[in-house]
Amino acid sequence: MGLAVASELSKSHKDIIVVEKNSSFGQEISSRNSEVIHAGIYYPKDSLKTRTCVEGKDLLYALCAENNIGHRKIGKLIVAIDKNEVRDLEDLFKKGLENGVSDLKLITKVEVKRMEPYVQAKAAIYSPSTGILDSHGLMKNLAWQFQSRQGIIAYNTEVIGIDRTNDEYELTVQDASEGAFKFSSRILINCAGLNSDKVAEMAGIKKGEYKLKYCKGDYFKVHSNKAKFINHLIYPVPKKNYSTLGIHATLDLQGGLRLGPDEEYVDKIDYSINEAKKTSFFEGMGKFLPFIELDDLWPDTSGIRPKLQGPNEGFRDFIIRDEAENNLRGFINLIGIESPGLTSVLSIARMVRKMVESQI
Ligand SMILES: Cc1cc2nc3c(=O)[nH]c(=O)nc-3n(C[C@H](O)[C@H](O)[C@H](O)COP(=O)(O)OP(=O)(O)OC[C@H]3O[C@@H](n4cnc5c(N)ncnc54)[C@H](O)[C@@H]3O)c2cc1C
Repeated sequence: MGLAVASELSKSHKDIIVVEKNSSFGQEISSRNSEVIHAGIYYPKDSLKTRTCVEGKDLLYALCAENNIGHRKIGKLIVAIDKNEVRDLEDLFKKGLENGVSDLKLITKVEVKRMEPYVQAKAAIYSPSTGILDSHGLMKNLAWQFQSRQGIIAYNTEVIGIDRTNDEYELTVQDASEGAFKFSSRILINCAGLNSDKVAEMAGIKKGEYKLKYCKGDYFKVHSNKAKFINHLIYPVPKKNYSTLGIHATLDLQGGLRLGPDEEYVDKIDYSINEAKKTSFFEGMGKFLPFIELDDLWPDTSGIRPKLQGPNEGFRDFIIRDEAENNLRGFINLIGIESPGLTSVLSIARMVRKMVESQI
């Protein structure tokens, strides 16, 4: 998110610094996801999640094509396995069309069999514009674009304090080699992912206003022989509150197949995978991917979602907010940027540019 915002701003503005606590970009949420370019089917019509996803998808495909960033518009099936799910699927189909995803098709069991002979389903939604991308390639390209316009990325530099001084924000940062130092900026954009609620508080947002909950998702890799059994991404019908899209089967650009992510609220950041979940992954996915056997699965990676909603709570949208109304002019917060954040990234970057330009 930070690289995309910086790259977008650097097209028409100077003196932009990205401050990153790690030794490289993409070591947290952005390198631990499904790498799916979503179509924009699931969320409420006027939400930021839908609007930025639908716009962001087209921007992302265009950027990937122009810059040789690995991607494939592979398409996806959301499959229903019983009568109840077929009803939910029909509702989801209508929602997708209302959201402006005009290429969706509701397909029958026979059509599913024709497209995916090894997948079990009573009906499905086919989304041809869903795809996969090389998220590291995307970040590398955004960093390169930003740096080629004189943008600076300060790695190994952690923001540890923020003070409002006159019309500026004075940041205290901890540099791995030089210790702590301060610098000031008129505009401050908080894209701190899993720490974005804490960074917001450092700048003066009331404690607890944007409290993030961490929701971990584990992935299991499937034996390489089985990847050839599917041609599209395969998703279940999601939970009603769309808190996650459900454990799905994704193919990557190298042709690998994996299952995940599941949903587990956690108190701290720990990326280790609980192997004991293997059985529940197998049982859940076996309903529509019967060709997978228990011994085909082994632990892969995990990621942590920065969620605004707790377990079983209703839908929460992205927070992309100019904090002028909180008396913090020049401070822009990006909080709760979970899925479909990767798809939405270029659209969000444009939104943030407009917010910045309305202040200068
Ligand atoms: C399991 C999972 C699956 C997902 N699947 C998809 C998908 O298929 N499609 C999709 O569109 N989206 C998906 N997403 C969502 C997407 O990955 C995120 O929306 C996106 O990567 C968020 O990017 P970010 O820049 O906000 O966070 P990050 O990539 O975490 O970047 C935040 C950066 O801020 C830095 N930072 C934090 N605090 C400080 C500080 N104090 N000082 C300096 N630097 C700091 C961190 O080091 C980090 O590099 C998924 C997310 C998860 C967790």
